[in-house]
Amino acid sequence: MDFRKAEFIKSAADPGGFIRDGLPQAAFAGRSNVGKSSVINSIVGRKNFARVGSSPGKTAQINYFLIDGKFYIVDLPGYGYAAVSKEERDRWGRLMEAYFASGLITLGVQIVDARHKPTADDLTMMRWFRQSGVDAIVVANKMDKCKKSELPANVALIRETLDLSQDDPLLYYSARTHSEREALLIALDGALNLE
Ligand code: GDP
Repeated sequence: MDFRKAEFIKSAADPGGFIRDGLPQAAFAGRSNVGKSSVINSIVGRKNFARVGSSPGKTAQINYFLIDGKFYIVDLPGYGYAAVSKEERDRWGRLMEAYFASGLITLGVQIVDARHKPTADDLTMMRWFRQSGVDAIVVANKMDKCKKSELPANVALIRETLDLSQDDPLLYYSARTHSEREALLIALDGALNLE
């Protein structure tokens, strides 16, 4: 699996645009600004692949990236951005509801902030993965901003807040330093049953 062989395929703003070609889909979820685009860029080893830092929450659409012709990284629209209109939030909710109900998700990748207690919205996303019968890997990003001594307490807080069992995978990550990139690639490979 060559994660650097990545191409943008399309965006979908409604269920008619969902890709249904049978390839596995890894759905990446996270609140705006948690570093979801940066994590995707880090995985594919390119700086400006998924958009970074522009107009958070403004676009309720999902973006499909094909990796090595074998699976899709599905970039779900970020949530939790305060300045979003009710209309935009409703659009986001309808799109998410349709995608989670579609049966198209193979694996969830829930990105949270390594420094903080996960938000109520983060927990809602985890519950949607569970209710859809989809396993999820939790990626605690921005670990470069944590002191090593803080990590055990942060792990415990994230596990507890998201209702994770000891068997549920939780990875610390830094999209800035690419720390734990190999571990994430191995986890994705294993969870998607590729090769
Ligand atoms: P998104 O809205 O979730 O796609 O977040 P972005 O990828 O646009 O990142 C939001 C901000 O966080 C940007 O300024 C990034 O440079 C920064 N960022 C993302 N990941 C990391 C990380 O692992 N460490 C640090 N220190 N900053 C990060």
